[in-house]
Amino acid sequence: MSSRYDEIASNLERVREQVKSAAESSDRKYEDITVIAVTKTFPISDVHILASLDVHHYGENRDSEGSLKAAEVPGIWHFQGQIQSNKLKSIASWANVIHSLDEIRHIQALDKVAVHRIGVFLQVSLDGAQGRGGAAPTDLSALADSVLNSTHLDLKGLMAVAPLEESSDQAFEKLATIHDGFKASYPMATSLSAGMSNDFESAITHGATHIRVGSSILGSRPTPQ
Ligand SMILES: *Cc1c(COP(=O)(O)O)cnc(C)c1O
Repeated sequence: MSSRYDEIASNLERVREQVKSAAESSDRKYEDITVIAVTKTFPISDVHILASLDVHHYGENRDSEGSLKAAEVPGIWHFQGQIQSNKLKSIASWANVIHSLDEIRHIQALDKVAVHRIGVFLQVSLDGAQGRGGAAPTDLSALADSVLNSTHLDLKGLMAVAPLEESSDQAFEKLATIHDGFKASYPMATSLSAGMSNDFESAITHGATHIRVGSSILGSRPTPQ
């Protein structure tokens, strides 16, 4: 076994233990939390290692990179990057789930080009500044309605990134409140995509069902994106 295998295996083991204890301390089940390994900027050889360690959910931020990797390793591929209209057709060809939809025009365009079913998380902004993407909470129902009116898209839930200027606990508590209100109108939208390497335990405490973890599993990225 290569040392890279050992490195990823031990990082993954540590993350899984942390997910377990965060789930237990908030009376939740470990099995209800999906760990998405964010493989952006890391080589395809790392994706093969993850697959051999029974990780089959992968997250990518760029169409060009995700399409190449998804063609090589079967799995559940998540797109979580900024959406560009001219890339939607390609993204729809390889992504199984998209976490970063925050505009009606993108939802409608995606539905037109989709060739298989795609799970959708609507990204919500927690600071209103739109700095890290996401729709205002008041715009969510219009976005959700457009997903429900689509042919190929399944509404999974909400996604958010914690703003830099407040604590992750405060941010994810706000997100949980928004998600509760949203589920009252859209009961199928039970999933919550929140938490990255530095804050996934807090996200789990506040109800995250999908955490997106890159550096804690794969190490630091050469170029942050
Ligand atoms: C890069 C990225 C992640 C993973 O970040 P880490 O800090 O490496 O865990 C999660 N979500 C989004 C939207 C990202 O862009």
